[in-house]
Amino acid sequence: MPLSDFQPVIGLEVHAQLLTNTKIFCGCSTEFGAAPNQNTCPVCLGLPGVLPVLNARVVEYAIRTGLALGCTINKTSVWSRKNYFYPDLPKGYQITQFDQPICEHGTLTVDMAEGEKVIRVRRIHMEEDAGKSVHDASASESLVDLNRAGVPLLEIVGDPDLRSADEAVDYLKALRDVLVYLGVNDGNMEEGSFRCDANVSVMRKGATAYGQRVELKNINSFRFVKQAIEYEIARQVDVIESGGKVDQETRLYDPNKGVTRSMRSKEEAHDYRYFPEPDLPPLHVTNERIDEVAKSLPELPRAKVTRFMSQYGLPAYDAKILCAERPLADYFEAVAQHFKDYKRLSNWFLGELLRLLKDEGGTVTTLRFSTVQFANLLGAVEKGTISANAGKDVFGEMFRTGKDPEAIIAEKGLAQVSDVGAIEAVVDEVLAKNAAEVEKYKAGKKQSYGFFVGQVMKAMKGKGNPALVNELLKKKLGD
Ligand code: ADP
Ligand code: MG
Ligand code: ZN
Repeated sequence: MPLSDFQPVIGLEVHAQLLTNTKIFCGCSTEFGAAPNQNTCPVCLGLPGVLPVLNARVVEYAIRTGLALGCTINKTSVWSRKNYFYPDLPKGYQITQFDQPICEHGTLTVDMAEGEKVIRVRRIHMEEDAGKSVHDASASESLVDLNRAGVPLLEIVGDPDLRSADEAVDYLKALRDVLVYLGVNDGNMEEGSFRCDANVSVMRKGATAYGQRVELKNINSFRFVKQAIEYEIARQVDVIESGGKVDQETRLYDPNKGVTRSMRSKEEAHDYRYFPEPDLPPLHVTNERIDEVAKSLPELPRAKVTRFMSQYGLPAYDAKILCAERPLADYFEAVAQHFKDYKRLSNWFLGELLRLLKDEGGTVTTLRFSTVQFANLLGAVEKGTISANAGKDVFGEMFRTGKDPEAIIAEKGLAQVSDVGAIEAVVDEVLAKNAAEVEKYKAGKKQSYGFFVGQVMKAMKGKGNPALVNELLKKKLGD
């Protein structure tokens, strides 16, 4: 039976590091890249006799995320200890939320190949991150860096509503966009601040009960999410096809080989023995607090795309690119205040601006020219003061130097002649000088039209407004 007789089922668990300045239960900095173990204190080192104090910002970010995903915010949620032993976990347990998380029953609407799909979000809870074991700093020993111990995380648990690796990637990207828009996470998968475990199972098409799920870990890019899930689907189908049974296990993805490998089986599964955290009281959230956070929610990516399409009359393609990142969308709106041909503006964003940012570096928040100068440049092209090509040169120069577009146009002598009288005089002169050619043209030798344009442009040193040159030539040639 081929792969196509099976239906994959996927549910993702995402861990997102929160962009707070300090850790979840102590005042240590969460700054990335500090010297090993510099950002630590007795609390996050797990020394005896210390007490955790909850960072209020973490709760705010959890509520923010829950509201953005349409969750119920629980008025009371509870902290638990998840017990396990590992060198990067000095306390011997992780403080997390277990049976009473802060958010439940949400959804995320995602644009997928087959259209819009609503993926349910089962729960969101807060927890602390563990430290990091460093195996490659020394040949003879492994080291432990506890800077990350106690960094706040949100775990966002999705329902098994995804049906292919591509859907899983679409969901993850949409979720990342929401978190980044909310300002709670930097969305960086490669650096591990946005991490994903994928649960994968397969069932025969038409079956009603899901198959045995396998959990995949160590996936740190969108490309690997797709590869790991696709490999795992094919592996499970193979197992079933050859008469075997898929085991309940945790598998690690190996990005070098593109395969998943067993890490631990059901027998070796951790028994965390969760129990209530005695050092932290249950967390109570008031309606007032929830309303306050709700009021501070920004416009989310999908809503922004829809608004860009209606307000600026842009195609979905443009709107999606412009809204992919909040600063780019904000910048578009800032320039749009001064330049009303929005489609033309969007073309410059998608073409020249994004190209220059990619090739020469920088971001829209560090541009050297102002929104008004940007608009003035586009105005000069629109009015025909300069040609579209000259406009690109001027824009490049503005990008590199921050000089005023008018100054660059004057300096480089790029201004086009759009004075009808001046162009007409040149056209008349060219046609008079080439009377014989004009006769032939009128008799049907239409291919010499380019010759006349060339002569006029040459006489005008390339600065004649092409639209006007064409218009006048056609008129005089009787076309
Ligand atoms: P547990 O409580 O053992 O962690 P859950 O049922 O809560 O397991 O699910 C954990 C994750 O596994 C969720 O993201 C969920 O969507 C996913 N999941 C559950 N069952 C399946 C399945 N049969 N196939 C794929 N993913 C699944
Ligand atoms: Mg789990
Ligand atoms: Zn600390």
